[in-house]
Amino acid sequence: MAFEGLTERLQNAIGKLKRKGKVSEADVREVMREIRLALLEADVNFKVVKDFVKNVREKAIGAKVLESLTPAQQIVKIVNDELTKVMGQEAVPLSKAAKIPTIIMMVGLQGAGKTTTLAKLALKLKTEKKARPLMIAGDIYRPAAIDQLQSLGQQIEVPVFSLGTDTSPVEIVRQGLASAAEKKNDYVLIDTAGRLQIDEKLMAELAQIKALAQPDEILLTVDAMTGQNAVEVAKGFNEQLDVTGVVLTKLDGDTRGGAALSIRAVTGKPIKFIGQGEKMTDLDVFHPDRMASRILGMGDMLTLIEKAQQDFDEKKAVEMQEKMRENSFDFNDFLDQMEQVQKMGPMDDLIKMIPGLANNPALKNFQIDEKQITHIKAIVLSMTPQEREQPDVLNPSRRRRIAAGSGRPIQEVNRMIKQFNQMKKMMNNFSKGNFNGMENMLGN
Ligand code: GDP
Repeated sequence: MAFEGLTERLQNAIGKLKRKGKVSEADVREVMREIRLALLEADVNFKVVKDFVKNVREKAIGAKVLESLTPAQQIVKIVNDELTKVMGQEAVPLSKAAKIPTIIMMVGLQGAGKTTTLAKLALKLKTEKKARPLMIAGDIYRPAAIDQLQSLGQQIEVPVFSLGTDTSPVEIVRQGLASAAEKKNDYVLIDTAGRLQIDEKLMAELAQIKALAQPDEILLTVDAMTGQNAVEVAKGFNEQLDVTGVVLTKLDGDTRGGAALSIRAVTGKPIKFIGQGEKMTDLDVFHPDRMASRILGMGDMLTLIEKAQQDFDEKKAVEMQEKMRENSFDFNDFLDQMEQVQKMGPMDDLIKMIPGLANNPALKNFQIDEKQITHIKAIVLSMTPQEREQPDVLNPSRRRRIAAGSGRPIQEVNRMIKQFNQMKKMMNNFSKGNFNGMENMLGN
């Protein structure tokens, strides 16, 4: 499986944080050290790793973290965002020319998967865009290349223009384009020769084809299995030909991840497609965010984080503000909040969620013992619906009954109700813009 080692190491590094309620700078340093090693071991370019680690560390230590997530979730989110960014943030679509046809030139080293990818792309255009592509067989040096393209062409029912191996590639392209114009093909895909490594003669020939065909896309095919070598190849081709995008092949193999994570950062050129198998349908648009969550192997967790963020940040914040304005915050809301926060992380986030309180210095050392939450819930759940809605009715005899029902001492019940009332009062003050008295409440 692709990225297996990297995924495992990243998960281990982040997993250590899951057991912690609070994360110190030393914890972040330790996690970053492990993430750094994981990336280097996955053959990611060292400069990319350096920037990556620096960015994640800054975000983790800085104030940009979301208040509604646990420390582990926050790191997952930051690492995921950074992985996405390093791979280009968003999918970059294939260019479409204003004129007809759109011309795509495929380049790459021998064996990278150029010819296969060219045919896969032709099929994709045919099925998804209802296009009428023509493929030009311009690789006259690898004896089997033309046969291979013709056989793929038959398989996907896309015509192939070929003049055999005796005509120069530039001439083949010239005549191929003329044929496309005549037959009104809307896409032309040009297969070119590869070599085992970059050489001047090859580059000169490709430059000539480029000058003649004026392609809208020059797609470089690189083999993901070759790691840093793929990145070097991409750099070389890009310097000579100014490619428009990269296709990363063989991501179905057990590639370590280096190429996927380095190419964009090193060349500045987007990965547009990924090859994930030998079948003609195994070509997919490259989505940096999906790839990031695949690398992290935490798709579920990320969905949860997203959901938590949305639910909590938007709906709950609006509701809370409403309640605060109306001064109608009751024990049901209290319970609701507690369950929400308990699902998501440390209890002190409840207080920090209150608009205007998130970055208040008085909250810096404020923490609630997680065990207390269970007790508080037991107390609230022992109240009648009326008591929850109208906390004012909680007289001594009702409180005694609640204490017995929840199995908590009466003093604890009294203390909890007192804190609730203080919190409610404080919220009411906040909604009027008065922030005094908060320290008193937190001191309790
Ligand atoms: P070219 O020399 O660059 O034109 O390479 P080919 O298109 O002939 O591909 C070389 C080999 O890689 C062939 O056996 C292809 O079937 C295989 N190949 C290409 N893309 C992929 C891919 O995404 N996954 C896998 N598993 N094999 C691929």
